Amino acid sequence: MLSNSLIELDRAHLIHPVASYRGHEKLGVRVLKSAKGATVTDMTGHQMIDGFAGLWCVNAGYGHESIVEAAAKQMRELPYATGYFSLGSEPAIRLASELADRAPGDLNHIYFTLGGSDAVDSTVRFIRYYYHSLGTPEKDQFISLEQGYHGSSTVGAGLTALPVFHAGFGLPFDWQHKIPSHYAYRNPAGTDPQAIIASSVAVLKAKIEEIGAEHVAAFYVEPIQGSGGVLVPPTGWLKAMHEVCKQYDVLLVADEVITGFGRTGPLFACSDDDVVPDFMTTAKGLTSGYVPMGAVFMSDKVYNTIADGAGAAAIGHGYTYSAHPVSAAVGLEVLRLYENGLLENGVKAGARLMAGLESLKDHPLVGDVRGRGMLAAIELVTDKQKKTPLPAAADPSRRIFDRAWDNGLVIRAFGNGVLGYAPPLCCTESDIDAIIERTRLTLDQTL
Ligand code: PLP
Repeated sequence: MLSNSLIELDRAHLIHPVASYRGHEKLGVRVLKSAKGATVTDMTGHQMIDGFAGLWCVNAGYGHESIVEAAAKQMRELPYATGYFSLGSEPAIRLASELADRAPGDLNHIYFTLGGSDAVDSTVRFIRYYYHSLGTPEKDQFISLEQGYHGSSTVGAGLTALPVFHAGFGLPFDWQHKIPSHYAYRNPAGTDPQAIIASSVAVLKAKIEEIGAEHVAAFYVEPIQGSGGVLVPPTGWLKAMHEVCKQYDVLLVADEVITGFGRTGPLFACSDDDVVPDFMTTAKGLTSGYVPMGAVFMSDKVYNTIADGAGAAAIGHGYTYSAHPVSAAVGLEVLRLYENGLLENGVKAGARLMAGLESLKDHPLVGDVRGRGMLAAIELVTDKQKKTPLPAAADPSRRIFDRAWDNGLVIRAFGNGVLGYAPPLCCTESDIDAIIERTRLTLDQTL
């Protein structure tokens, strides 16, 4: 009864992100009520393993009392402090320092945002400021990858390549350029890692030369493309692309909004690739989704150029909720949990997840299995030889999502027959085994 009235209220008043409004009105909302560990429970009492950690963000898992305590303590003591006027709060300063200590290379300067989109947006503004400070404002063109996702702010949505974020908006992004992704399963260069790297390097060089290196500001990349379908580049790919950036004096922005905070194993995925970008953007796992927060990591070189360029003038970029003390207090506690067993557990659980997904390769629908750590996907096809995608007209993703839900599993069903996995790092062995068993059952029902 309560649930029905909620569905009506939702239909009437709540606008959902990235949804068909009319489609959603018809389907009605599914309301989650509570969660613990890796298990979520809906309003009807139906329990599921959350194989997607909310929206790839609840890395620590649900129900950590110590996180709740950290937030409550901070709210009691000081619920808000601005960072404007050279003011600050202790948790924000401490979190910035802890993050800088753990960041790759000289990414020593942290700018806090409310999430990932405004973190990406902030980098665009900082990069413009950087080149103005250097006296080369004509470096104003940006490159990113097809299948890439970098948020849906007005500027960042341009770096995003997914068509749904552009259709119907008509915003001009003629200063943003896309190059093909590494997408190994469907790469015209074949599946050989070295061929994929060589092809990406050639394409990036050609794009920079086409625009003119003197106009290219930055290259944006997710170390593993998430929303594009969990596309994992070959080892050495990111490093090779970084070399091209250095050769042409182009800044590299590593968007670690999904890959950060243990999702792929280490705290940051760049470390696996031995790459120190000029900027790193993060959010999600930073606070494990308990409260909103994002962070831009900026290198010494960029920070000093901007600071010297501005001199005594204020740099006009900031939000009321930049460096929010409650979010920062949560971030500090989440970081402590990561380093007190969660990262380690995530590595073990990730190996089990990948092995489990590999075991699904014998299923007639499973064309590809890919991932790293607790970030993975399977790609479904109707013909393995020809790699024929599932027929789009039947809306397979929605049906698969619904079946998985009924089977006690939340997954991400991308529109192109790709199923995404990003479970909390706290998953037990039996959680992981349940994810695999419930996936197999769901696939059997889809045949
Ligand atoms: N960048 C990447 C790589 C993302 O995956 C996302 C969100 O999924 C964003 C940016 C945007 O983050 P947010 O949704 O917190 O604004």
